[in-house]
Amino acid sequence: MTVTGEICTQSPDEPFGLYLHIPFCRSKCPYCDFCSFPHPDAGTVDSYVHEMIRRIRAAGEAHIAHHGAPGLVDTVYIGGGTPTLLTPAQAERLTGAVRAAFSVLPGAEWTVEGNPATASREALAAWRAGGVNRLSLGAQSAVDRELKALGRLHSWEDVCRTVADARAVGIGNINLDFMLGIPGQTAPSLGQTLDRALALAPSHLSAYCLTIEEGTPFARRGRAALGLPAGEEAAGEAAAALYEEAETRIRRAGYEHYEISNYALPGFRSRHNLHTWQDRAYLGLGVGAYSYYEGVRFGQSRDLPAFLRGEDITVDRYVPDLAGQREEYIMLNLRLSDGLSEADFAARFGEDFWESRQSVCRPLLAGGFMVRSGGRVRLTEAGWLVSNTILADLI
Ligand code: SF4
Repeated sequence: MTVTGEICTQSPDEPFGLYLHIPFCRSKCPYCDFCSFPHPDAGTVDSYVHEMIRRIRAAGEAHIAHHGAPGLVDTVYIGGGTPTLLTPAQAERLTGAVRAAFSVLPGAEWTVEGNPATASREALAAWRAGGVNRLSLGAQSAVDRELKALGRLHSWEDVCRTVADARAVGIGNINLDFMLGIPGQTAPSLGQTLDRALALAPSHLSAYCLTIEEGTPFARRGRAALGLPAGEEAAGEAAAALYEEAETRIRRAGYEHYEISNYALPGFRSRHNLHTWQDRAYLGLGVGAYSYYEGVRFGQSRDLPAFLRGEDITVDRYVPDLAGQREEYIMLNLRLSDGLSEADFAARFGEDFWESRQSVCRPLLAGGFMVRSGGRVRLTEAGWLVSNTILADLI
């Protein structure tokens, strides 16, 4: 780790989240801008796992050298890409390496991301044996023609089978990811997706809007050819209507809407993602992974060959100054339904959040976009819909 030797702002007894990126997928979805490489050969995947284990060990040793004790980890998130492409033996080696390098706290949340097209019961059993207790499944839609439009390899039946397999091997905490704004998606088809999803009783649901990322096949085809509303205003209105439909149905089923795009049954908020949203430490290992660790933000490049050669691929490294930390704090905390604690803000930044932003906050309060109560400031559902504008004004 290149952070060794930095001024350390992280207390050695503060647990952090560990993120491991597995960047391989069976094929590349046409909208995907994530760090993922399609059609990997078995040798490359095995070399990657080997190098990940070396880097996990090195990170564990660096923590001990710096703090005199193993790093305390309270969440482990194995994301991708498609981690469920790994063989049971590779899953076992990886989870074993984490336990050997860090002190993983009892009751830690261990999540693995899965693709319903590739997550076999055997692979899930291996992840479970390694400690995984949460599955995050990229379901995207329960309507097969929408899955096809997204270029996904799985069907809704695959999602149902994978959920049943996960439960059968003892992984009961399940997140289903869904997408809003899929080509051809309508309010009734989203309703059908949500009815089917809720019937599976997942503990957590995420609903993200499809974004057309530059350089992807979807961007080359263009919004009109995809049948998506053209123009920012029309696209925004369509997305808002779907967002409201999702929010109403999911909340009615008893889920807390605790983050702009995330819903959970009581007690099942994603503890790993809360590390990010609450501006707490997390360490990311693997190509394309990002970290906020020991007061430093940094990433790993997407250079897979360099990673496999064992080279340092650190990029985007910076130590946020107080103004930067304050911006990040506001942006992240206002994504959450718990909002921002005025006392915590004052203690961290020596500034009264409300007093110094009254001219922005008062109209938001009057317009129903913001709530101030119990020493906290929150955005309402209406506020979340226009959060980009609000946050820009606040920071
Ligand atoms: S499965 Fe996920 S990570 Fe892989 S290509 Fe599709 S969207 Fe990207």
